Amino acid sequence: MIFKQVFDQKSSTYTYLIASSTGREALIIDPVLENVEDYIKLLSELDLRLVKVIDTHIHADHVTGAGKLRDKTKCVTIMGDHTPADAVEIKVKDEEVIKLDELNIRALYTPGHTSDSFSFLMDNYLFSGDTLLINGTGRTDFQNGNAKDSYDSIFHKLLRLPSETLLYPGHDYNGKMVSSIGKEKKFNPRLQINDVDEYIEIMNNLNLKKPDQIDFNIASNLKLGSI
Ligand code: FE
Repeated sequence: MIFKQVFDQKSSTYTYLIASSTGREALIIDPVLENVEDYIKLLSELDLRLVKVIDTHIHADHVTGAGKLRDKTKCVTIMGDHTPADAVEIKVKDEEVIKLDELNIRALYTPGHTSDSFSFLMDNYLFSGDTLLINGTGRTDFQNGNAKDSYDSIFHKLLRLPSETLLYPGHDYNGKMVSSIGKEKKFNPRLQINDVDEYIEIMNNLNLKKPDQIDFNIASNLKLGSI
């Protein structure tokens, strides 16, 4: 299998490129608009044909490259079926399987960070978007975010995956590239709590500043980055 993790410096976003082997179909998760030419170069170096691009949710902190990749490669755009983006071609349901040659990628509805957030599981690779981060969890204070939903998605869905499942998040701000479900269960400070109320209390008092250009980014992402 081919697996590439690409980091966007400006927004600290991770983008993932997956393919079964060279010369075959490829899929990209959470592309960043400014890096589209780099992805195209990478695809051509690996002799891959981009067929699918997924956004885990409508992002607030960067503009998606999904629309531009679709225009340049004729790939299909995919999001979960709770997305407010009408421009998305395929909207997958919870537990639906996305095929990529012989690879299977299972969609998991994991709201909380936003009401449209999905995670994607391929074998023991979990692409958690901003639902579960390394040593953290995605903020829940805009885009219909909800701390209780975040708790349910994390504790009742993602943490029930096998401990050895590799966690590949949508962002990291401290240079960490990968973790595992077992490590997060044990060491993620935000998960060391007694009950849902304690989690909600933490999430509702993070007092984070809003991302720069949040309104523009969301408006643009609703059109898959085409404005
Ligand atoms: Fe996000």
